Amino acid sequence: MHCRDSGRERMTALADLVTRRSGDGGQHDDRGGAAVDTLLVHHAASSNLDEVLSMMATGSREVSSNLVIRDDDTIEVVSAERRAWTSASSEWDSRSITVEVVNSATGDASGWLVSEASMASLARVGIAMLADYPGFRAGRDRVLGHRELYERYGASYPTACPGGIDLEDLVARIRAGSTTTQNQDHTMYLVELLDDGRVFLVTPSGFSYVERGSSLAGLDALGLPRRKMWFGHFIDAMAEIHEAHTADAEEFSDLRTRLEALRPANS
Ligand SMILES: [Zn+2]
Repeated sequence: MHCRDSGRERMTALADLVTRRSGDGGQHDDRGGAAVDTLLVHHAASSNLDEVLSMMATGSREVSSNLVIRDDDTIEVVSAERRAWTSASSEWDSRSITVEVVNSATGDASGWLVSEASMASLARVGIAMLADYPGFRAGRDRVLGHRELYERYGASYPTACPGGIDLEDLVARIRAGSTTTQNQDHTMYLVELLDDGRVFLVTPSGFSYVERGSSLAGLDALGLPRRKMWFGHFIDAMAEIHEAHTADAEEFSDLRTRLEALRPANS
């Protein structure tokens, strides 16, 4: 599992999280050209990890997922490059990293919860997706629970899945763990675009492009933190700074116009 990084191949952040692999039973297809932009969360409706993995490996129920999580274990079943048969919606499975989280207890009286360690592992998947996929965002429009496919889009089928998993809490954890949304920690920092390597200086009042060479070396010498992010996440970060410092919508539309003019050709 690799992606391009300024012409060199590098391991994806998601691949770094995988603790082990398990059989996929052939239950996957290509993504049909779809770009991944969604984290699609399921619960396994089971507290038995071995049974879940066995069911996926044998294909007995024609169900699979990209990842299965239980506590600190993040198990790859279907490679992130492939569409796993998870949600009974080829459209949503094509654009998603699908995750089945093993429950900490089962039965309606249990609330179908998952463990704190599983929530932390799930958040790490979201944080890694910010590094791997320019179209993914730490927002409730891109972090979905299975039942929301039907409730919001009429896709898949009516279901209670993913049980008691708190998706608002998950988004908050992803945002807290991502470098894209930690603007309040520093008043000034450098952003290096993953798309094309350009560097920008971000200040409380906006941003400016930094030429390679002496000016960049000078800023690095000041010890400014440098964050790598995709252009789409850079726009999100600038919007947050704007919201924190001014309520002037017109001023931000100017900023957004300036930003859009800088959009990398391949983005
Ligand atoms: Zn589900």
